[in-house]
Amino acid sequence: MTKLVNDPSDFPAQLVEGFIEANRRYVRPVFGGVVRATKSTPGKVAIITGGGTGHYPAFTGWVGAGLVDGAVTGNIFSSPSGSQAYSVGKAADQGGGVIIGFLNYAGDVLHFGQGAERLRADGLEVRTCVVTDDVASAPMDQWNTRRGIAGGLPVLKMASAAAEEGMNIDEVVGVFEKANSRVRTFGVAFSGCTLPGASEALFEVPAGQMGVGLGVHGEPGIYETERGTADDIAGLLVDKLLEERPDGADGRVVAVLNGLGAAKYEELFVTYTSVAARLRKAGLDLVEGEVGEFMTSLDMGGVSLTLIWLDDELERLYLAPCDTAAYKRAPLMHEPLPDDVTFNVEPEALTVRREGSEASRAAAKHIVEHLRRINEQLVANEARLGELDAIAGDGDHGIGMVRGSRAAVEAAEELVASGAGAQTALVGAGDRWSERAGGASGALWGAALTAAGNALGDDDEVDAAAQARALRALVSSIQSLGGAELGDKTMFDAQIPFVTAFEGAVAAGESASAAWKAGAQAATDAAEASAELEPKRGRARVLSQRSVGHADPGATSFALIARTVAEHCD
Ligand code: ADP
Ligand code: MG
Repeated sequence: MTKLVNDPSDFPAQLVEGFIEANRRYVRPVFGGVVRATKSTPGKVAIITGGGTGHYPAFTGWVGAGLVDGAVTGNIFSSPSGSQAYSVGKAADQGGGVIIGFLNYAGDVLHFGQGAERLRADGLEVRTCVVTDDVASAPMDQWNTRRGIAGGLPVLKMASAAAEEGMNIDEVVGVFEKANSRVRTFGVAFSGCTLPGASEALFEVPAGQMGVGLGVHGEPGIYETERGTADDIAGLLVDKLLEERPDGADGRVVAVLNGLGAAKYEELFVTYTSVAARLRKAGLDLVEGEVGEFMTSLDMGGVSLTLIWLDDELERLYLAPCDTAAYKRAPLMHEPLPDDVTFNVEPEALTVRREGSEASRAAAKHIVEHLRRINEQLVANEARLGELDAIAGDGDHGIGMVRGSRAAVEAAEELVASGAGAQTALVGAGDRWSERAGGASGALWGAALTAAGNALGDDDEVDAAAQARALRALVSSIQSLGGAELGDKTMFDAQIPFVTAFEGAVAAGESASAAWKAGAQAATDAAEASAELEPKRGRARVLSQRSVGHADPGATSFALIARTVAEHCD
């Protein structure tokens, strides 16, 4: 849904105006669209492109050195007129003739054809060329009748680089056609787009489904199916494109994963991991990967994958520099690192430098059991902790605690299996907790487990007194790292009453089990009482008033953890 809109009928003109305003170093306005704001080599073949608006960065974003010379802009999703194409072509002409390259939609064919006629009537040498990369729009044996989609950019890029090299108009047309015969795109759509001012989407894809091969304006796809995972979609796209490998292709490819408007870059990268792996597995030489938005349809949900099957000439032209508002390819500023320079991509391996004493190893086994139950309880309470954190924070406390505790269990298990004592197991668990959990609580819990482990050592018996010392160290580490004071509404508010009660019970000669129960009760009461407080630390302090009346998430999860240990302590 388009939210930033004035009078919807002014939307196309205003977006072009704003684009020009923001990109004066690249484009100048001309009736019907934009042309380069920089000088071109006299006699160079000019290439103009265009079509409806609503597809940014197509088409204005591609105007500039090394790419197209001008773009003709129509209304949202509708072709510009012949007179507009004429005007842009005339302004772009450098004396070497004009190629109008576009995406093979019926309206574009008519209007750009008329524009070409008018330019010819003025004595210019003019050619029209179409991009036909969408494999879903016609069978292979009619490939040159297909519509054009995200393959428009690479085809125009390679033809433009040829023009920039000084090729004549026939040669540039030859490059355009060869490039087009080696560029294929396949896409899926998850949701339709909404025209500015409209309240309903132009078309709909049923929830959880995807339209396979759906066109960028909602033109019918091949079929609808379950959406599946990012990997499933990557597989579908890659497999289809591999069926269409052009004759004579030597296996060098560029892959372009394109978001159609509502796909997030994060989602695209997740999908691209699988795309790249599949292409390599198919034996292809992945020369370059591009991930982003190259051809959109307003806020349409979906992705497309384009494969560009290179040869020597196309590789040179594809990699040639260009500089436009939306697409740049610059020479590297510095030499690349040699291939044999690599970095550790895994965290430092967990190692047991010295085996723990028998007593400490036995304690470490108990610690693993407790961590496992803590993780289970955090999983069961993940949503509730997230909701508490969402009141004034960012809603990730449950996710973070689950992720951190799972990593801690795994680390401690692995270490204990190699003979770790309590210290080694807890220090390793703390490292992994903070690595995986992220967030303030992740850092604090990581430090806390490490501090507790260091207090226990790898040799000593872990009796009630040792536990009291370790828990005091745990709480002190939270305070020294986080700097919180009592009453700041953090986990610390539950921890101080907890450790005080625990120490009191131990001093009174009670068992560790009784001490845990006393501590857990104190932590639970304090976590509940934290509802009255206003947060002074962490993310929640910004919206602190909202938090009043609700318990602190970190204090709540701490109390939960204390109860979980207390219930299984004997
Ligand atoms: P983030 O705030 O980074 O999103 P979480 O949501 O996982 O991290 O954890 C939030 C909890 O962390 C808070 O409820 C609070 O108990 C605790 N917290 C935040 N900052 C501090 C601090 N400086 N000292 C102690 N605890 C803190
Ligand atoms: Mg949070």
